[in-house]
Amino acid sequence: MPQDCIFCKIYHRQVPSTILYDDGQAFVIRDIHPRAPVHLLIIPTRHFTYLTYLTESFEPMVGHLFTVAEEMAKREGLGATGYRIVVNQGSNSGQEVPHLHLHLLGGKRLGPLG
Ligand code: 5GP
Ligand code: ZN
Repeated sequence: MPQDCIFCKIYHRQVPSTILYDDGQAFVIRDIHPRAPVHLLIIPTRHFTYLTYLTESFEPMVGHLFTVAEEMAKREGLGATGYRIVVNQGSNSGQEVPHLHLHLLGGKRLGPLG
């Protein structure tokens, strides 16, 4: 694991954080600066930097992230009201942490994408 990756540090308990879900392939934490009443991060346990590095062999891992997001949305009571899943990729998106993750946002009416 890269020494300076905050998500790897959280997963390996080098930085304290409440892990809401962990199945060995993916784990989930609440975003430290939430942009919505529910703002979760769904993160592969294995360090994987960018979506642009994706090859076919990673398809099961990426698919799994969506399965976990769906499960977490149910647990957080977002099933009926809806939610948004976002992936930031690279500098124009403002990607802050170079370890692939899904943002799961909900709990209010979200503004337009932009
Ligand atoms: P990105 O911009 O890379 O798509 O999103 C990274 C997200 O991680 C940001 O929304 C930021 O608030 C969140 N984040 C950064 N550092 C930490 C941290 O130490 N703990 C938690 N829980 N979230 C973090
Ligand atoms: Zn990492």
